[in-house]
Amino acid sequence: MYMSRIFLVALFLSVSVSAFSWGLTGHRIVAEIAQMNLKKSAQKELKKIIGKETLAWWSNWPDFIKSDTTWKHAEPWHYVNVKPGLSKEDFIAALKELPGKNLYSQLYETMAQVKDRSLSQEQRQVALRFLIHLVGDLHQPLHVGHADDLGGNRIVVYWFDRKTNLHSLWDTWLLDNQQYSYTEYARLLNIASEEQMKAWSAGTIEDWLYESHLMAEQIYASAKMEEKLGYQYNFRYVKMMEEQLLKGGVRLATLLNRVL
Ligand SMILES: [Zn+2]
Repeated sequence: MYMSRIFLVALFLSVSVSAFSWGLTGHRIVAEIAQMNLKKSAQKELKKIIGKETLAWWSNWPDFIKSDTTWKHAEPWHYVNVKPGLSKEDFIAALKELPGKNLYSQLYETMAQVKDRSLSQEQRQVALRFLIHLVGDLHQPLHVGHADDLGGNRIVVYWFDRKTNLHSLWDTWLLDNQQYSYTEYARLLNIASEEQMKAWSAGTIEDWLYESHLMAEQIYASAKMEEKLGYQYNFRYVKMMEEQLLKGGVRLATLLNRVL
């Protein structure tokens, strides 16, 4: 009992101070919205891979395994860093030249693995967990940020009285400030028209990354080091954040409907 409490406290602390991707709630919202928008055929195939388990249930697993050294190699999969000020064409060229595995390469790789019926169920499960998670990360703008400040991790800001950084603010604090559970938020956000959903799903992964990158530039330009942020910042950005969560969910559904 005592040990498990310590473990829970440690888990909570590591989750709340880590700054790697949408917090727990953000990933679950994206996953839940995707689940709500799956086609029948995709639902059927999904059952073969994860049974009755939900996408939201698995959406944070790629962050949890960061404490397991055998998964150390997967840490760079959660983001891409690209130089600021590039045209879309140059941005896409830069993505293709990034060394090693990263968010961009792994989105394609995990999609191919989920699609591949010759792989074992376990292999497809792992790929699916990453795909759910990485589509979420792709829609957190600061996962497509600058290398020199580690996607905003080095930009210290205050969220009300809490000392944090720009990346964590976008991963967790701005979202938590709305005080919805993931199921409540997913239900509230999942009201896009068919037409809107089609428009969001029409682009490519490269388009979506560029869109996040442009938002990241806007976010960078609007926060100063050590700045105290609160209600005004919330008002300014809550719509952008919510739209990113919804787009993430709709696009994850589109990708899963394609590969499942
Ligand atoms: Zn992540």
